[in-house]
Amino acid sequence: MKFAIVDVIKSGDKKDFNGGFGTSFDIGGGFFLKILKFLRNSNEFFPITLYGIYIALLKNQGHEVYYAKNRVPDNMDVIIMHVSLVRNKEELDILKKIRRTQSSFVMLIGPAAFHCSKKFEGLYDLIVHGDLEPHIREISSIDDLPRGISDFNVEHDLDSLPLPDWGLFDISKFSQFPLLKRKPTAPVLANRGCVFKCNYCPYVVNGSSNRRRSVLHVIKEIKYLKNCGFKSILFRDPTFTLNKKWIEEFCNAIIAENIEIEFACETRTDCLTEDLVKKMFEAGLRAVKVGVESFDHRSIEKHSRIAPKKETQETIINYCESLGIRVAAFYILGLDSDTANSMQTTIDYSLYLGSSYANFNICTPLPGTKFYDEVKDKIFDHNLNHYDNFTPVFYTKCSTPKEIKYFQQKAFSKFYFRPSLIMKRMKDFF
Ligand code: SF4
Repeated sequence: MKFAIVDVIKSGDKKDFNGGFGTSFDIGGGFFLKILKFLRNSNEFFPITLYGIYIALLKNQGHEVYYAKNRVPDNMDVIIMHVSLVRNKEELDILKKIRRTQSSFVMLIGPAAFHCSKKFEGLYDLIVHGDLEPHIREISSIDDLPRGISDFNVEHDLDSLPLPDWGLFDISKFSQFPLLKRKPTAPVLANRGCVFKCNYCPYVVNGSSNRRRSVLHVIKEIKYLKNCGFKSILFRDPTFTLNKKWIEEFCNAIIAENIEIEFACETRTDCLTEDLVKKMFEAGLRAVKVGVESFDHRSIEKHSRIAPKKETQETIINYCESLGIRVAAFYILGLDSDTANSMQTTIDYSLYLGSSYANFNICTPLPGTKFYDEVKDKIFDHNLNHYDNFTPVFYTKCSTPKEIKYFQQKAFSKFYFRPSLIMKRMKDFF
């Protein structure tokens, strides 16, 4: 059969981020913030991490696979589209066009497909709830495919999946610069799900079970990606260092086999120790993204987040930076109990922590999360394109949407337009 993966994407979109709901760096504001937006959007690009595996799996099953960006492909048997929140309007436009002009079977994937299924009524044949891989394994003809919304299913045997096929993409564009200096950068998932239960988190909307690949399988993928021309790896696991024993084995294997590769990962500071960071640095870790979220731990604990201790955050961030591992610290502004004072304190804390990079998201109730259920009556903006972490969409207890947006722009300006940081970052770009 002929399959097409149809992608609807604009400059600055990262549909893989935010648990697959997507995000788009659109900060607004004046001249300096526009420069920041330009630098971010022109230097970072990633496809959906699992596209490579879907393509390899489909080809292994004997299907033809095509990739179509922002257009409707002709004469396909099956169209697969990962739908998001941030491109909802544009995706609906393409889906309507597909329905008008094609008779293809349309499969929608991604958490927005299931959690916002009403938006897509009449525009799909199947919404996949959970992982796509088990469905691909079972398809030999269209008649095999269920219709409507599938039962929830996840792939448990991650080691049985093929290595990704990125042959349909221009991999020279895959980049996480300046966090990772070597390009192109391949996205890799070593484990899926997270055992923590932060109530706003999109990574746990489909259940929080953690599933892991073997070290051997991941090492095999890294060697293969190097042969394909990739120079660095971004691990897209929600919490890469959940299992310290696994990480030690992984680093030991990279060091023993002398595999030269730069990598970055996302994790929590309390899932790192100085010894582990040192070992990871020896293996090639050059950047790490960590969630600090807020200075006010009582606010984030209301979101069922177990906040790492402040001393742990400080020690780990300082230690990483001292070794040459660039830290990108993530913060949330506009939590339900945030005030102007607490948002200012979080901004001051981000400057004090001294990470190389920082990101300040506006607290956004994502469909499917417990947080969404808690605040759904306070949501005033139902345009899904605005659920991008840059737009306030619900009324909080203690601050106005205008204040929250003001503090987000202030946070980015204060963090990135300090003379000391500008000098450091200039070196990255030139
Ligand atoms: S630790 Fe991170 S990935 Fe895990 S539930 Fe919390 S926010 Fe999500």
